[in-house]
Amino acid sequence: MNTPRLPPAQFKYRNVYIVLMAGVVIAGFIWQLKWMQQVRRTGAENIAPNSFMNQLGNWMLETRGGAAAGGANLAPGVETLECNNCLGTGSVLSETGERAICPICLGVGSRLIRRQDDLDRICPLCAGMGRTTLPDTDEVGTCPRCGGRGLVRPAEPAP
Ligand SMILES: [Zn+2]
Ligand SMILES: [Zn+2]
Repeated sequence: MNTPRLPPAQFKYRNVYIVLMAGVVIAGFIWQLKWMQQVRRTGAENIAPNSFMNQLGNWMLETRGGAAAGGANLAPGVETLECNNCLGTGSVLSETGERAICPICLGVGSRLIRRQDDLDRICPLCAGMGRTTLPDTDEVGTCPRCGGRGLVRPAEPAP
């Protein structure tokens, strides 16, 4: 003749809650299964991750905003300079007519420069490449004018 500890109404409510939870779990499982089938049918990585990456890319472009104006997909102050010595190809014809790695850009074809501010000017001696033919030895080395930075700053104004 013991009365149950839980009143019938509350007991019923608990059962409904458990059934609901189970329903959510099962529904989620089925949804996931269907989604995976869809992914497999439409070609694996080609839907979700790509669109996600595109959105991420767009978002990053938007947040960078006007700083990267001019279409350059670079951080503010960063520019790509094409190597004048090899015209961006990374290789030059040697005296014997063979293709050789460009000594200025070392085969890269371009160089990234990072300006601190508008006072930074492209080095006139190396054209921003940081390397140039040294006049005294006639060999290519680090540009003496900019110290390899590719950028020069005007002399600080006298105080
Ligand atoms: Zn080059
Ligand atoms: Zn220089």
